Amino acid sequence: MTHTLRAAAFCGAIVMGSASAIAADPPGHDPHAWSYEGATDPSHWGELDPGFFRCATGKLQSPVDIHGATPAHLPALAFHYRPTRVKVANTGHTIEVRPAGAETLTTASGTYRLAQFHFHTPSETRFNGKAYPLSVHFVHQDDKGRVVAVVAVMFRMGKPNPQLATLFRTLPKPGAQPVPMPGRVNIAGLLPKSHHYYTFPGSLTTPPCTEDVQWYVMKQPLTISPQQLAAFRSRYPMNARPPQPLDGRAVQSGG
Ligand SMILES: [Zn+2]
Repeated sequence: MTHTLRAAAFCGAIVMGSASAIAADPPGHDPHAWSYEGATDPSHWGELDPGFFRCATGKLQSPVDIHGATPAHLPALAFHYRPTRVKVANTGHTIEVRPAGAETLTTASGTYRLAQFHFHTPSETRFNGKAYPLSVHFVHQDDKGRVVAVVAVMFRMGKPNPQLATLFRTLPKPGAQPVPMPGRVNIAGLLPKSHHYYTFPGSLTTPPCTEDVQWYVMKQPLTISPQQLAAFRSRYPMNARPPQPLDGRAVQSGG
């Protein structure tokens, strides 16, 4: 299937004149493009590229619907997030914030660098089948650059979040250069006061759906105003992968 599609695209380029066809591609065009709706939606991700096979066949996929979690005595998460300069990028799939500083998270298994954080609407994680309007994912890498820990924070409707007011003020369009924010952003302001969490083994929620990612879903939601949610949805009306089967994984609850 993938082979046929690629061959057809290649032939089309020859007929149209390869130079002009390539030049017509928008900046950042990916021939294995994936999306949240239409012919390349999450149900097809595993077919779009051989490297995406885990999206279809993985047994530790994220997001999940959390229900019947097992109470456990879990170690506290230590966030070392300080006010820092950031750039805001539009990846074509989400709004992604890249800190310039060395922000880290320490879990029971180690200390990891915050590479970026980004947003999904509605929240990808569900709770007894229900989603929140928005979530943020803090993506942490080990010293080899592998994503090993993702922290998810939910937003419910309510008062505006001061940090989002800064970050969502000027949302770049897809393909635009990342926008440096003036001053420093208090990233810790995107964490709830309570650090109680659910945890389970999972994956990236976007292709290539790489596994061996430990998830930490914070229990206490923050708030977002209707105007802030509308600002995000003006760029991305829906960018959430549906829940994936737990396949026997235990979700632990504690913190
Ligand atoms: Zn995410």
